[in-house]
Amino acid sequence: MLDCAIIGGGPAGLTAGLYATRGGLKNVVLFEKGLPGGQITQSSEIENYPGFFDHTKSGMDFMDNWQKQCFNFGLEHRMDEVLQIQKDGENFSIQIAGKDPVSTKSVIVCTGSTPKRAGIVGEDKFFGRGVSTCATCDGFFYKNKEVAVLGGGDTALEEAYYLSNICSKVYLIHRRDSFRAAPSTIQRVQNKENIEIVLNTTVTQILGDDMGVNSILLKDKNGSETKLEISGIFVFVGHNVNNSVLKTSENNFLCDVNEQGQVIVNLKMHTSLEGLFAAGDIRIDAPKQVISAAGDGAVAALEVISYLQERS
Ligand SMILES: Cc1cc2nc3c(=O)[nH]c(=O)nc-3n(C[C@H](O)[C@H](O)[C@H](O)COP(=O)(O)OP(=O)(O)OC[C@H]3O[C@@H](n4cnc5c(N)ncnc54)[C@H](O)[C@@H]3O)c2cc1C
Repeated sequence: MLDCAIIGGGPAGLTAGLYATRGGLKNVVLFEKGLPGGQITQSSEIENYPGFFDHTKSGMDFMDNWQKQCFNFGLEHRMDEVLQIQKDGENFSIQIAGKDPVSTKSVIVCTGSTPKRAGIVGEDKFFGRGVSTCATCDGFFYKNKEVAVLGGGDTALEEAYYLSNICSKVYLIHRRDSFRAAPSTIQRVQNKENIEIVLNTTVTQILGDDMGVNSILLKDKNGSETKLEISGIFVFVGHNVNNSVLKTSENNFLCDVNEQGQVIVNLKMHTSLEGLFAAGDIRIDAPKQVISAAGDGAVAALEVISYLQERS
């Protein structure tokens, strides 16, 4: 029987593991289906985490030390995909793909979120052949080529800037008349000579052939359509919540969620179900930042320690 199962090994899960084990819990397992690190490992840079200000380092570099530190106090990583969390009396049963279930006294769900697709005609057809949601992963394929970036938030602008150092030109396309990003990021993008900002415009279709994407159709606010020849398009339009582990066999949720499927927690990361906690991008009102995900993970682990002490 585990003291605590942590599902997901991004910033929230890793920090929860660090605090739980350093706080004295012995049987704590981090279930992470891939390598620990989470979404930020896809980022080309991170400049808003205090204490880390080497902008030449990627999100992967950034998370490297987290893994070393967070496993230093006895946290165990199992590279397993969790299918479902079930309530089993006062405990929980963790259902794992291809393995026996694991019993645990408490659970912290840190499964994060996944970049959304924009729903453009041709997006699915050309996904991986010119359509991407990860500049760090795929930017190099477009070296000295022209690409488009779709979106108007921090991630879109950061990734447009990153691509501008690899690609010959970046069209930054946003459907509104202004960006929703940090002023310093907006200014950096505006000052970059090979980024062309295209506002009040939507992408209506992604076109290509057997070789992949070769152009996109744009529609401005007056309804005028233009064709833009590019080799790739990077889509940064928000996230889906990874809450499937909380779905019951009856297709309900194990705990309360809001209409977007985000887990409802209080300030102590308690869900509506005793012994079940949630942290990071999966929770309501998450700022979707590394620092807040890590903070949530710490809070949730401290609460698990109190919960188990009260139970014993
Ligand atoms: C391109 C990009 C750039 C970003 N830039 C910044 C930035 O500059 N600054 C900043 O603060 N934030 C940035 N973010 C956001 C930041 O990465 C997230 O807010 C943060 O990673 C959320 O952490 P998390 O632990 O909640 O979830 P995640 O990082 O999403 O981690 C969840 C983990 O759970 C695992 N998982 C999911 N389901 C299961 C399952 N069923 N079984 C087992 N494991 C599972 C996943 O594999 C994943 O590793 C960026 C994100 C992206 C994508």
